[in-house]
This record gives sequence, C-alpha cells and structure tokens, in this order.
Amino acid sequence: MAEAESVVVIGLGRFGSSLALELMESGTEVLGIDGDEDIVQAHNGLLTHVVRADSTKEETLRQLSVSEFSSAVVAIGGDIQANILTASLLLKLGIPNIWAKAVSDPHGEILQQLGVSHVVYPEKDMGKRVAHLVRGVMQDYIEIGENFALVKTTPPREIIGVPLGKTRIRPNHGVTVTAFNRDGVWSYTTLETVIAATDIILIAGESKRVEAFSRLI
Ligand code: ADP
Repeated sequence: MAEAESVVVIGLGRFGSSLALELMESGTEVLGIDGDEDIVQAHNGLLTHVVRADSTKEETLRQLSVSEFSSAVVAIGGDIQANILTASLLLKLGIPNIWAKAVSDPHGEILQQLGVSHVVYPEKDMGKRVAHLVRGVMQDYIEIGENFALVKTTPPREIIGVPLGKTRIRPNHGVTVTAFNRDGVWSYTTLETVIAATDIILIAGESKRVEAFSRLI
C-alpha cells in the first residue's frame, strides 16, 4: 500500500465515501478510515481496506502505517476540530499530498495556514456550479481555475454549418470550441470541423464569456 497508486481516505461520509469508491473504480488502492462501526461495515469489501479508528490519535495513525502513503484525503466535514487535528497529524507524519475538505472559508484558511496543499470546498463549489446550470442552457459547467471555465452546451446558430476556423468565434466571443459530441461520441475539434445543430459542444474560456456564449441561440 506504499506506492503512489494508493490513497488513505479519512471520514467515509457522503463526500469521503463517494471519493473513495471513485478511486477504487479507477484502479487505486484505498485505505478507508472512519470512527463509526456501521459506516465501516457498509464499506467492507468495497475498499481495499477499511478500518474503524479515530484519526485524531497520532498513535492510531502510526499503527495503521498511514505515513507510508503519499496521498491522503481528510473528508471529515461535520466535526471541524477532528478535521483540523487529523490534517495536522497527517502533516506531522510527512505525507506529501494532503487534500482536506473545508466547510467554510475560515476553516479553509486554517487548513491552508497549517500547510495543507489542497483545500477543497465541495459544497461551495457544487453550489456555484449548479447556479450556472440553473441560470442558463448549459448542460455542465466546470470552473477550472480563477475565472476560467469549461462548459458543455448546445451550439448557437452562428457556428452551425461553418468550419470552425471560419467562424471568428475566438475574436468575437473569446471562447474556443475544444470538443464536440455527435451521436454519443466525443471528438476533438480542428479548424475544419463543421458543427451540426444536433451536436453538443465543449467550450473553454473566461467564465463570463463562456456563459454569454452559451446563452446565444
Ligand atoms: P459528509 O457531509 O460528507 O457526509 P460528514 O462530516 O457527515 O461528511 O461525515 C464524515 C465522516 O467522518 C463520518 O462518517 C464520521 O464518522 C467520520 N469521522 C468524524 N470524526 C472522525 C474521527 N475523528 N476519526 C475517524 N472518522 C471520523
């Protein structure tokens, strides 16, 4: 379990469980740790190893050889104290890649100040993402970083039936059509790609501009 393809996930609530199962799905070994016996039972056989333990106890983490992992996720949400204590112990054990779930901005700042390299805000991020979907016609919206997004949407009329290289979409709208889906198959675009009305497109660009573009009809 010491190689990079193994991850320790601490806290198997809704977020931790779904993350751990997704890692297993992609062929990663997962050690799941949770303090609740029922939760541990429910994950038995679904993860490589599942252990009932209190992650705020240094001795426990040492006994479980958690320090041999190169990646760990603190997925405890409700108990902020346990979340912070666990993150600080993982740092003390010298785990290089630590992801920790923050439930608020001040909580996230504390984790960052401790030295946690990846602080994630699942509820906040999902709320923002769904807001974009609720507002427009987009089928999916992913903010890649500060002010840059990828959007899955239907093509506006002005780019249908014309090779993408001739649409002037980049100078006019500041977005790029990076891929398209035709009959259920995704392909990369080229300058010669001609988008059809029934295609689904994936566009990249500044958040405001991809949003404005996906509102065109
Ligand atoms: P979510 O909102 O994703 O469901 P929760 O905070 O409700 O997250 O769940 C977090 C999980 O973390 C729970 O299953 C809980 O038993 C577990 N947990 C909380 N504190 C500890 C701890 N000190 N050690 C191990 N597991 C813990």
